[in-house]
Amino acid sequence: MKFILVSFFVLNLLSTFLKANEVNVFSSRHYSTDIQLYEKFTSLSGIKVNIVSGKDAALQKRIIEEGSDSKADIYITADAGRLGLFDKKGMFQNSISPKIKSIVPESLRSENWTGIAKRARIIFYSKDRINKEDIKNLSYEDLSDPKWKNKITIRQSNNIYNQSWIASIISNNGKENTETWIKKFKGNFARDPKGNDRAQILAVAAGEADLAIANTYYYALMLSGQKGFEQQEAAKKVLPIFPNQSNRGTHMNISGGGILKNAPNPKNAIKLLEFLLTEEAQSHIVKNTFEYPINENVEPSDLIQSMGTFKQDLSTPVEDYAKFQSIALELMLRSGWK
Ligand code: FE
Repeated sequence: MKFILVSFFVLNLLSTFLKANEVNVFSSRHYSTDIQLYEKFTSLSGIKVNIVSGKDAALQKRIIEEGSDSKADIYITADAGRLGLFDKKGMFQNSISPKIKSIVPESLRSENWTGIAKRARIIFYSKDRINKEDIKNLSYEDLSDPKWKNKITIRQSNNIYNQSWIASIISNNGKENTETWIKKFKGNFARDPKGNDRAQILAVAAGEADLAIANTYYYALMLSGQKGFEQQEAAKKVLPIFPNQSNRGTHMNISGGGILKNAPNPKNAIKLLEFLLTEEAQSHIVKNTFEYPINENVEPSDLIQSMGTFKQDLSTPVEDYAKFQSIALELMLRSGWK
């Protein structure tokens, strides 16, 4: 009897130990190279990483529906607005350790989630049809100028990057000014919004528009050749301009994550979040995804560095993207932005 009890105790201890030595990541990031990163973490910490990947809507639905039975420890996604809205539903717990605080600038995190990498949403212009001197001081606000009539291309208003970008403009300029601006901006569209960010850059290369709004990493991805020869050649016809250099700086968004309220392994989850911010992990991320590092001791990839240095908007809190996102969408739709 004693033996059975002792074995039971040992088994129990073992299972607690085994259970504690894993972390479950729910991620909507579409980079296979993230897996190598988790493997590195496992070899350093002995903590096994289980990954559930999928689209944001499906992952969020599953986490919400499974409630306290959910195995999810960390939710990782792109876009601060998306993180903020999920947080508003009470899905995260406080994820910010002193170590995270020391690495991540305050504007790029909240109490409950943190940025892991940065991306800039910028303007790309036609090398052939636009003179750099004429646009070097361009701001997002200038895109309402009638001189850009039929010259601008951007994806649809249902796109979260656009919603966060407009939310940041509302945060800086107020709802009313943004509404006036957005109507004129929409009036300058060269075509009905369609396609992804890369499609906007392709449209400029093909002469359908002179300016495109897109995230920096898509341009680098095209230049790298990973999207094929045609897209590489198209990207070479287009150059980046970093807006708002004479005031708040260029709009920055994040990839980020937080620890879930019902996380079964919160201690391991903190260790993983902290690991993702180390120099080793950050250089792996930026080399493979062409995002900007959040750890200031790390340099962006060569391709991204060749786009030039610029002033980033680190004064607008990325938390504001969720705060103003529904107003942003309302203004976009009201302007007739498809
Ligand atoms: Fe993206």
